[in-house]
Amino acid sequence: MTGKATPVTEETLNPFHICQRQLLEACQALGLEPGVYEILKQPMKVMEVAVPVIMDDGRVKTFIGWRSQHNDALGPFKGGLRFHPDVTMDEVKALSMWMTFKCAVLGLPYGGGKGAVRCDPRQMSRRELERLSRGFIQRVSEIVGPDKDIPAPDVYTNPQIMAWMVDEFSRVREHNCFGLMTGKPLVLGGSAGRSEATGRGCVYTCLEAMKRLGIAVEGARVVVQGFGNAGSVAARLMHERGARIIALNDSSGGILNAQGLDPVAVLAHKARTGSVVGFPGAQAISNDDLLQLECDVLIPAALENQITARIAAGVKARIIGEAANGPTTPEADEILLQRGVLVLPDILASAGGVTVSYFEWVQNQSGYYWPEEEVNQRLEVWMVRAFNGVYRMYQEQKVPMRQAAFMLSVKRVAEAMRVRGWLG
Ligand code: NAD
Repeated sequence: MTGKATPVTEETLNPFHICQRQLLEACQALGLEPGVYEILKQPMKVMEVAVPVIMDDGRVKTFIGWRSQHNDALGPFKGGLRFHPDVTMDEVKALSMWMTFKCAVLGLPYGGGKGAVRCDPRQMSRRELERLSRGFIQRVSEIVGPDKDIPAPDVYTNPQIMAWMVDEFSRVREHNCFGLMTGKPLVLGGSAGRSEATGRGCVYTCLEAMKRLGIAVEGARVVVQGFGNAGSVAARLMHERGARIIALNDSSGGILNAQGLDPVAVLAHKARTGSVVGFPGAQAISNDDLLQLECDVLIPAALENQITARIAAGVKARIIGEAANGPTTPEADEILLQRGVLVLPDILASAGGVTVSYFEWVQNQSGYYWPEEEVNQRLEVWMVRAFNGVYRMYQEQKVPMRQAAFMLSVKRVAEAMRVRGWLG
């Protein structure tokens, strides 16, 4: 096995280098032929586009965007589309690589892709956002499609944006192409259960891990960082199963109540006030203190690089279920390993969203739509099966769960590339 990955330190947390390193470690542990790393160390294609938009004040403003297609050995590229002012091409490339491995861990018939537009949607009107969304999908229309590359919502994009893009693409192709995007509104071929799928999938993996460690759900102490889409659903489902949500936070601050918080009441408070802060009967808690609380399950559901080496040294959770993408740094991972924390990696624990996106695409292809109960049952089957596969690799190979998940997925992608004749 040859190949080199760029070193990653806490100062240079470039997600693309982190992902290359994770890939290289998995290739080395599996003893794979050098061609596997050589092909997978970068995306197959990255398209950069400039999208001019007529703003509401009449000025023309150009936005830069990317679609990164990492690898399609297992099926069409699949992955979200992010609108964010700070997004970089390296971030998009890394996220597309992670999608290849996330889809492969679950056994979905997809490769990995990701897209982004550098913009601040919070500063844009609805009409400006619509023009940007239509312009972006026109620019990338030759490389996307239901059998080629299927985008979905990600940070600061939503079902409405998916609907505009489907409409624009359908006009270009002169027929309805609902299978182009997933995460669409229900009326346009969206799937029941999609909006809750990431939080729900994370909970299914946490429940399996708790069984393995002999932790009863009833009364288990759970902490959630990031009370947004994924975090609020995870908190609510854990609470419904009898766990105690002792602390949670959002970008404005955190709340703590050792007796347990009611996530439904907190969500109502957040809808009224804009934040979880000031929830009656709870104490305030800082982000650092929240991540280091003594608990059974910690669910990071906010952003990347939240659990750094400094934070990890004080983490007292028994299980970390990564609902967010990339919340733990590589150095923190090593420290958590020494501290005996079982980390359920993002490419497994946050895969509920893409799994129900797959169900949505299947429903679009067949034109037959499943009730929410059926979607949730199938999601549980897929998540538990993936957890079991990773856990088996973890036990057999005596490697951390993250490496086990990478090994399982890289093995699948390598096998597909081998039988397709890409490796000689
Ligand atoms: P979201 O915007 O709905 O929620 C994010 C939450 O995190 C918000 O409540 C925000 O206030 C909070 N937050 C931001 N910075 C914080 C900080 N420093 N400390 C504490 N809280 C902070 O986004 P989401 O869709 O729930 O996504 C959250 C994470 O899950 C992201 O990493 C995303 O990539 C990942 N993810 C989401 C999906 C999905 O389907 N929604 C799928 C896979 C992965």
